[in-house]
Amino acid sequence: MLLLSVVIGIWLTYRQQAHVRHHRHTVPELFSQRITLESHQNSADYTIAGLQLERIEILISALLLLAFTLGGGINYIISLWQPLQLNPPLTGLGFILTFVLVNHLFGLPLMLWRTFIIEQAFGFNRTTWLVFLLDQLKEIFVTTVLLSPLILMALWLMLNQQQWWFTVWILWVTFSLTLMWLYPAIIAPLFNKFKKLSDPELERRIEFLLQRCGFSSKGIYAMDGSRRSNHGNAYFAGLGRNKRIVFYDTLINSLNHDEIEAVLAHELGHFHHGHINKRLGMMMIGSLLGLMVLAWLSDQEWFYSGLGVSTHNVYTALILFMLCTPVFAFLFQPLLMFSSRRHEFQADTYAAHQADAQHLINALLKLYKDNATTLTPDSIYSSFHASHPPALTRIENLLSYKDQKKGRNNQ
Ligand SMILES: [Zn+2]
Repeated sequence: MLLLSVVIGIWLTYRQQAHVRHHRHTVPELFSQRITLESHQNSADYTIAGLQLERIEILISALLLLAFTLGGGINYIISLWQPLQLNPPLTGLGFILTFVLVNHLFGLPLMLWRTFIIEQAFGFNRTTWLVFLLDQLKEIFVTTVLLSPLILMALWLMLNQQQWWFTVWILWVTFSLTLMWLYPAIIAPLFNKFKKLSDPELERRIEFLLQRCGFSSKGIYAMDGSRRSNHGNAYFAGLGRNKRIVFYDTLINSLNHDEIEAVLAHELGHFHHGHINKRLGMMMIGSLLGLMVLAWLSDQEWFYSGLGVSTHNVYTALILFMLCTPVFAFLFQPLLMFSSRRHEFQADTYAAHQADAQHLINALLKLYKDNATTLTPDSIYSSFHASHPPALTRIENLLSYKDQKKGRNNQ
């Protein structure tokens, strides 16, 4: 399965690369009025640079998986903790945190390459070495503080209960919902500055749109995304009354009020169609199934010995499970991405009705240009990797609503 997932993963990147390269010399007709050949070619080059890195990522993570399992990496980390003779949950915690840290450190060179070579070359990077280093330290600190109590409690349940999968699942769901609820107000501000939108004219329009859509939130925020990169985006965060809509400052600077309203209407479309709750529901079902499989696997002798691990207990099972799941989960990726693209489509349609299709088209074109998103992705690559429909499909969908509206006005 590992070999299959690596071969398919790499084959997909070559497909995408060939497709993007093939369309590099002409801007697709639908965009030819708005996107220059120069920026189209820039997007193609940026996409190809990213694909080269993706291939290396696929290979390195496969090698890491082998090194941790058959190569004896997990046995080695265990041997660092066992002589300390701590009680089992603490040994497990030490082992898991060490594993996570080592795994993270091996990923670091690729992150550096992406940020300081690719993003830098295409003029997107605004991160300095200092910001990068501080981010890393903060991330390690926050992860340790947040995860340690969770891991300790989960390990205690796993070591002391027969049917632990259900109680661990309750613990996990409670933890992730709390984290989501706290994220916008507590965790995100550790990494970025958030300001309420301060433009009164824009605020008035947004209030009106929110009322029309029946949405209540703790406000619309601008985030200093420009601290790290020139990419622009908008997203939803938080749960219940704590939810927020966040615009990157880079996006606010490049879009006019009409376009911001249209992007916001798209985000509200996700809310209107209950996409956030659907995704949460899927995540909960997925984690319950995962824990049931883990509970069964942790009792199977072959699961450890087959992967070269000599310590048979719940914490090594947990890490083995985390390492091996992606190898199988990639088969389901097209299904997940399909559902995500359908949601994006619905949100676009909603925005076309609540705001203006043409304004959303304008905003999307600016976003594609600013993010150097390719307008000509390969369809099979996209079915595995694209959370959003291809540019052409989205714009054509929006154009059809624009024509409908015009038709209605003429009657
Ligand atoms: Zn969306």
